[in-house]
Amino acid sequence: MLEPDLIIWILVGLISFNFLVGILIDRLNLSYSKKPFPKEIEGIYTKEDQEKARAYLRERTNFSNLISTISTLIFLALLISGFFGFWDQQLSLLGLQGIWLSLGFIASLFLISDLIQTPIQWYSVFVIEEKYGFNTSSLKTFFFDKIKGYLLGLVIGFPILYLLFILIEKMNQGFWWPFWIAITLFMIFMQFFYTTLIVPIFNKLSPVTNEDLLEKINELSNKVSFPITNVLMIDGSKRSTKANAFFSGFGKKKKVVLYDTLLNQLNINEISAVFAHEIGHYKRKHILQGMALSIFQTGLTLFLLSTLLYSENLSVSLGAERWVVHLNLIAIGILISPLGSILGFFGNMVSRKNEYEADAFARSFGYGEDLIGGLKKLTIKNLSNPNPHPFYVAWNYSHPTLAQRINSIRKE
Ligand SMILES: [Zn+2]
Repeated sequence: MLEPDLIIWILVGLISFNFLVGILIDRLNLSYSKKPFPKEIEGIYTKEDQEKARAYLRERTNFSNLISTISTLIFLALLISGFFGFWDQQLSLLGLQGIWLSLGFIASLFLISDLIQTPIQWYSVFVIEEKYGFNTSSLKTFFFDKIKGYLLGLVIGFPILYLLFILIEKMNQGFWWPFWIAITLFMIFMQFFYTTLIVPIFNKLSPVTNEDLLEKINELSNKVSFPITNVLMIDGSKRSTKANAFFSGFGKKKKVVLYDTLLNQLNINEISAVFAHEIGHYKRKHILQGMALSIFQTGLTLFLLSTLLYSENLSVSLGAERWVVHLNLIAIGILISPLGSILGFFGNMVSRKNEYEADAFARSFGYGEDLIGGLKKLTIKNLSNPNPHPFYVAWNYSHPTLAQRINSIRKE
């Protein structure tokens, strides 16, 4: 294993590199937004709205770049100064040891970073989103979301971490595969029960009652031979005017959830087109594929974690005098971050290909133009940037751009 002095500079190098690439791509994207739009989306915005959309992009990009500059500098300072080793020592002086020391260490860092992030989140919701007319959230909702998030973290995150540390203690390097199995089971469970267990904590779900829409959906579901029994509406308007829709579950547990904001913004044909697109994802097995991909990614990450976890030099590089499991988790998290970026890059590539396939599915049932109409409306309502830089798309986008999608739906 490498010397601690070298390790710390590798960590600093990786963090700086990640940060610089992120900023560079953001800046490229921002200056690209001044270019004329491709012909597919010419005239989508009025001149006034186009200026507004650009200002919105500029404001969000600048704010997020500022925050990431400050937080990267703080993190680098903590890393180089050996703060993490120092913090571990303070907690063990308080009497924490073993698994409880690890849990206390992670929980305390999480709390500190969340306390710092809260005013940042507040600013982006109540200042930026508010300024552009998207925010419908109240301080009360914001505050209760925080509390619920903490409780959820305690109920879900705590047992998962506890299991991880128990397995590390009992099985040494072999911990990774039983933990992998446990995480996989948890992910499958969540796929089934997310809408039933998690969504209602934050939102109200109610059955869709619009007769015309239900009739259309029925017609569509017969046409594509795909039974849809559970169509729900969620009160997304509680927080934002932005619209969305999602599917969850497998087999008989399948549910379609539409934001009330989507129901307000699109007409019935456009909503049916969105449905057809979502059904396309199921029919082409994209949901299963995505699941398989994340199970594989988790396994690979855990395996790599197990090969590096017992290196004492990693802990020493973070300021400890002995091997400390939770310090190694931080160091390894940074060391394997390039792998995450690469997997994320390919994951986005696969996802964009799947979006084209789902669009083609909708088109094959005659929903092509309605889908385009719906996508255009959502772009305008959300003041989305319709012309992102190609690098930005390659790096960050799980969906193709609006122009690319229109082009592919209308092709031939
Ligand atoms: Zn899709």
